[in-house]
Amino acid sequence: MERDAIFRKQHNIHTSGSNIPSPLHDFSELRSRYKCKPYILRNLAELGIKEPTPIQMQAIPLLLSGRECFACAPTGSGKTLAFVCPMLMKLKHASKDGVRAVILLPTRELASQTARECKKLAKGKKFYIRLMTKQLANTGEFSKLPCDILISTPLRLKSAVNKRKLDLSRVEYLVLDESDKLFDLGLLKPVDAIVKACSNPSIIRSLFSATLPDTVEELARTIMHDAVRVIIGRKNS
Ligand code: ADP
Ligand code: MG
Repeated sequence: MERDAIFRKQHNIHTSGSNIPSPLHDFSELRSRYKCKPYILRNLAELGIKEPTPIQMQAIPLLLSGRECFACAPTGSGKTLAFVCPMLMKLKHASKDGVRAVILLPTRELASQTARECKKLAKGKKFYIRLMTKQLANTGEFSKLPCDILISTPLRLKSAVNKRKLDLSRVEYLVLDESDKLFDLGLLKPVDAIVKACSNPSIIRSLFSATLPDTVEELARTIMHDAVRVIIGRKNS
């Protein structure tokens, strides 16, 4: 068996798709393979994060290679960092070029938690990381603010897009996190509207979830092209 396959097997990483980049064995490879800026490695160390978790091992290189993916890994297995880390690396530095990345979560609580994690990993670097609040969604204020990463629930973001003409056409990265819950809560319609509003043809979409029911897999396959599927452990554990 080849080296990557052995490593994946050891870490219970199951992939399907073509040309899948090698998994990350440790965080120092972020620097050697992907020229990661020191601030990220410093922040990881400060947070006491030493070794990548299996989902991070595979999702980080995928997203850094510009591949779309949908990933299923248990709760508590570090999915947030699996998409925030490559997102910060790809965005490189702050810009005033409109909204550049969007992370959707099913609830406000999860959205604010994710915004906090994002800021921790970005510490020392001047990114504009914003949580979509009710006030921002309801006033015109938002369109004037620079925003590298926007974190929101689907309903709030959709209302800002509809009522306030918030422009998502420059979004380069779109993450649907906790996608199984997005479904359970009946948020498919606003999610769909946001996917359409993110009309940049070179957008990289990804979807993360703790379980992968057929509904979620179907959504992943309709909104993404040539996406790689990553499952850690068993599909619905
Ligand atoms: P999930 O989204 O998969 O439920 P989270 O991304 O919320 O999990 O991560 C759960 C906890 O694990 C967080 O407190 C996070 O800081 C921590 N964590 C993430 N990655 C690592 C890692 N590689 N090593 C140790 N702790 C980690
Ligand atoms: Mg999570």
